[in-house]
Amino acid sequence: MRIVFIGPPGAGKGTQAAKMIETYQVAHLSTGDMLRAARDAKTEVGAKADRYMSAGELVPDQIIIDIIAERLANPDCRKGYLLDGFPRTIAQAEALDAMLAKKGAPLSVVLELRVPEEALFTRLSGRGRADDAPDVIRRRLVAYRKQTEPLLAYYNQKGLLQTIDGLGTVEEIFDRVKTVLDRVG
Ligand code: AMP
Repeated sequence: MRIVFIGPPGAGKGTQAAKMIETYQVAHLSTGDMLRAARDAKTEVGAKADRYMSAGELVPDQIIIDIIAERLANPDCRKGYLLDGFPRTIAQAEALDAMLAKKGAPLSVVLELRVPEEALFTRLSGRGRADDAPDVIRRRLVAYRKQTEPLLAYYNQKGLLQTIDGLGTVEEIFDRVKTVLDRVG
């Protein structure tokens, strides 16, 4: 299965992604994790990305697209993968479509984890990550609304979108995820 996982910051994507990887044995491709690793390794790309990340803004599309293109070429992606936090803009989604068309391996499903905005702010404030300061959180939520939400219509039009209610316990939410994935895969 080739899965795209979309949801606002604080929706609980990381927790659900970990459970999906384990249950469905797909590769986990988190652009946030890749960027944090690049930043910690003090690479040139990492330093550049960090300026955007700490401001709560999206890293420029071309940087992200290059990182993902390289990662998708890795043999472990042949067993299927979960794209977590990518794509986040229409330009990234179009670039992904082009890459996958070339490989002849289209997406299986796009999962949206939906959580009302009031709940997100509370969850993020309790997390303690460097980019979880209140003004940065606000900017990340705005980036989601403006740049990432348009992807929902984009994928809905392609018949790929499945929306999951992100309120409830971890297990309740994962049951909803499984219901969708077992139907697809
Ligand atoms: P995340 O861990 O997915 O919340 O990502 C943390 C930060 O990394 C985001 O706030 C962005 O600055 C950056 N980032 C992660 N994925 C992307 C992406 N696909 N496009 C642009 N920026 C990204």
